[in-house]
Amino acid sequence: MIKVRGLTKSFGKTNVLNGIDVDIAKGEVVVVIGPSGSGKSTFLRCLNLLEAPTGGEIEFEGKEITGSGVNINVLRQSMGMVFQQFNLFPHKTVMQNITLAPIGVRNTPREEAERIGIELLRRVGLEDKRDAYPNRLSGGQKQRVAIARALAMRPHVMLFDEPTSALDPEMVGEVLDVMKSLAREGMTMVIVTHEMGFAREVGDRLLFIDGGVIVEQGNPRDIFSAPQHPRTQEFLSKVL
Ligand code: ADP
Ligand code: MG
Repeated sequence: MIKVRGLTKSFGKTNVLNGIDVDIAKGEVVVVIGPSGSGKSTFLRCLNLLEAPTGGEIEFEGKEITGSGVNINVLRQSMGMVFQQFNLFPHKTVMQNITLAPIGVRNTPREEAERIGIELLRRVGLEDKRDAYPNRLSGGQKQRVAIARALAMRPHVMLFDEPTSALDPEMVGEVLDVMKSLAREGMTMVIVTHEMGFAREVGDRLLFIDGGVIVEQGNPRDIFSAPQHPRTQEFLSKVL
């Protein structure tokens, strides 16, 4: 579904990604871990062109998206993204947050968008919050709305950038549970996370990024029990 070759990204003189090669298959759950500042967010943001890569190639569903003539808006509709900081629209209700893009970008009729919205809210356990404003929700509830909002565009892949890092500990589980059920339903997902238990349980593959390259990758259970690279060993010794 996604093929990345020689991906580089620099900000001025700072080289953040230094040649990333990876293939992500349909239905695969890829978990990305690595130290702060190693380029994890930049990698994710390059996948849906929130950042323009400096070099290399990205193919998505068989089409090169790093060339010219790519419709970035259509691409982003196929890739849902969930951020650490939720990014809900504060002056819109939960239902308005969820239906804004389907109605405004896809021209979905309001009744249909709301019918799908209710379905999605049921899926994330928040049917009763459709008319609430974000400031009345807990962090975990906001993040579940953000996931429902991303799903409303029927994406083919979901990108998560530390979706539970801003949450109080008691709310982490409810968000991870929604992500687990998405994984079970076969959603293709790329997830940057510090939740090592979740990575081990749900990840089909783990990427350890350091210094803007994939230092090690493989089955999460294998890497957690026997990391091969000294940098992976050092990182895991601090976080496990
Ligand atoms: P991670 O998500 O692994 O913590 P990031 O991808 O956010 O790392 O950042 C990697 C490096 O790139 C950091 O040194 C960060 O300061 C730098 N960086 C990220 N975004 C920008 C930007 N828009 N402008 C300049 N530097 C950036
Ligand atoms: Mg980051």
